[in-house]
Amino acid sequence: MAAEFQHTLGKAAGFSGTSLHTGEKVTLKLQPAPIDHGIKFKRKDLQEEPTIDTKIDNLKTVERATTIGEGSVRVHTVEHVLAALSAMGVDNAIVEMDANEPPIGDGSASAYVELIKRAGVVAQEASRRFFDAREPMHVESKAGSLLVLLPDDKFRISCTQAGPENRFTQFLSTEVTPAVFEREIAPARTFVYYEDVQPLIDKNLIKGGSLENAIVVRGESVLSKEPLRFLDEFVRHKMLDIIGDLALLGCRVRGHIVAVKPGHSTNAELVRAIAREQARSMAVAIKQPTLRGEGGLDTDELMQILPHRYPFLMVDRIISFEGDNKITGVKSVTINEPFFQGHFPGHPVMPGVLQVEAMAQVACILLFRLSKTSGRLGYFMSADQVKFRKPVLPGDTLFIHAELTKARGNRLARANCHCVVNDSVVSEGELMFAFLDK
Ligand SMILES: [Zn+2]
Repeated sequence: MAAEFQHTLGKAAGFSGTSLHTGEKVTLKLQPAPIDHGIKFKRKDLQEEPTIDTKIDNLKTVERATTIGEGSVRVHTVEHVLAALSAMGVDNAIVEMDANEPPIGDGSASAYVELIKRAGVVAQEASRRFFDAREPMHVESKAGSLLVLLPDDKFRISCTQAGPENRFTQFLSTEVTPAVFEREIAPARTFVYYEDVQPLIDKNLIKGGSLENAIVVRGESVLSKEPLRFLDEFVRHKMLDIIGDLALLGCRVRGHIVAVKPGHSTNAELVRAIAREQARSMAVAIKQPTLRGEGGLDTDELMQILPHRYPFLMVDRIISFEGDNKITGVKSVTINEPFFQGHFPGHPVMPGVLQVEAMAQVACILLFRLSKTSGRLGYFMSADQVKFRKPVLPGDTLFIHAELTKARGNRLARANCHCVVNDSVVSEGELMFAFLDK
């Protein structure tokens, strides 16, 4: 399969409208973002303008719409803008809003597609990340929703929608490309069943709701300001919601989704299942770096130097030495690391201090190499300028670089260290060591 590039927006673009649940005016602005940024929401109306990452771990509720959040900050009804960004090929963007919900528009994703076309979509110099379905997966709910993901070299959806008593049963199957999305899916509007929304109208929970931004189905009749845009508009909107909810995965899916009576909660279940499968397959498919440069050390050799043992050995092997003052080690971080159990349950992140420990262990090996001639050993004394730039997750391969920058008065040594995952620096620090006689 040909490599595809990541894309962002060519420039910023925005529009204003009404939010569905509060009925207030909201302005939404799409901003370009760098490689590997993903889609983030920014609440411009709150102090310090907090951002919320589009990821399944941030999913809060799936009642009628998809809500994500971090801490106490929420953004509601994110699925239509996410569907438009994802399907139109935008990987990296910031969605700025001055409220907790995007403008509902006409209940479809057309306004967002127009906005994205106005901003333009531009390629970035990094390859897109995909989840390739390798074997069938499925999720289902007690209420009769069923989602199946099958291997396919394209992104396709085959969807069956059915209302109460199987009224308005509709089926559509298509590959999802930007052109298909814009023409066939984005214009499909939100629809609601009268019996579902009547209690909400009574409780005044959908202040911005009207026949201008949703189709209301009452019995056999369809109420809307504008006639149906497609005879099967409902199934098309279901596909729109699937695409939007799937964006919570944080990467693209290559596969065929077969959906029967889908809804936000089953969509989210499928994303969770894919995310679990992704973590599992990354943990077994870790790159095995080979020794290079002036040769390295395997695990046995480095354990003859370092006294550290499992679970505190933070380097698997040394892959290169460069001259007398540079070294590179590697550690495969798997979900089986004991620290992931408590750091944190359901949200595994490698502790930053353990990355510093990895830097110290790798630098120590370099000092040992020098001490062979000097007869002394280096002891870790202090760390300065330590920064943690990106989280290290299960499945990552940590490349640990150390460079000896100073050996002052033959008593102290300083090493500049940094850890790299997927070609970006995840942590760095300046480590000081004291030389002591053996
Ligand atoms: Zn929707």
